[in-house]
Amino acid sequence: MESGSRRKIFAANWKMNLSAAKAEQFIQEMLSLDLPSDIQVLVFPPALYLQRLSELTANSQIEIGAQNIYWERSGAYTGEISAPMIDEAGAKFVICGHSERRHIFGESSEMVTRKAGAAQDEGIVPLICIGETLEERNAGETLEVLQSDTLSSLAAVDPDPELIIAYEPVWAIGTGLTATPEDAEKSISYIREQVRSIWGDLADKIRILYGGSVNADNIAELIACPNVDGALIGGASLNPDSFMEIIRNGTK
Ligand code: PEP
Repeated sequence: MESGSRRKIFAANWKMNLSAAKAEQFIQEMLSLDLPSDIQVLVFPPALYLQRLSELTANSQIEIGAQNIYWERSGAYTGEISAPMIDEAGAKFVICGHSERRHIFGESSEMVTRKAGAAQDEGIVPLICIGETLEERNAGETLEVLQSDTLSSLAAVDPDPELIIAYEPVWAIGTGLTATPEDAEKSISYIREQVRSIWGDLADKIRILYGGSVNADNIAELIACPNVDGALIGGASLNPDSFMEIIRNGTK
């Protein structure tokens, strides 16, 4: 499959930001704009806003996803949300294993793959994040980490019907440091080769995004890389103007 036939994704990860009113205003503003029809736009708000934003975006080009999930369907798991709950709220995607979940909340790849598998069982598309820390990069271990995290994070996941991967070097998240297009392409094509080692040519169907301080100035050169199928954007996605500018510059 040609890289051009993988529809580009622009995904906004709001993390623990924005009030309910601001979140709704953001979505209303996006809905009033013309988005390029050949891209997919995903917004990952705090869980409390999933239902409202899913209702607002029904039948639009904007799709809503959760930032986290627990693999059990229900039970004594205080503070967690399950795949059926995310589904009932109308969300169609979920981020699994964001670096903040891995490094602040101690999620392992084994937990990440259980989460992603539980999402798929409910028809929710997992967006699985993988990336090396600065220490691992400085120690020359990037490819080793990407190999082992890719293989273990995909262990309980199916290539069909769908999953999305994001390469997010931890040192580039929220730091203003961005991987060079060459480094992003090298890491993402390496991740794709790991996927190929387990699922063969289905690897060419799977979209792999870059994330880490993406902004309106660097999106064009990143998304021009043949293996980069879009971007997962944190800080610069918190304002509809800057998110739209990224989309515009990434689709010129
Ligand atoms: C992210 O949260 O996934 C992310 C990439 O954040 P930022 O764009 O702020 O680096």
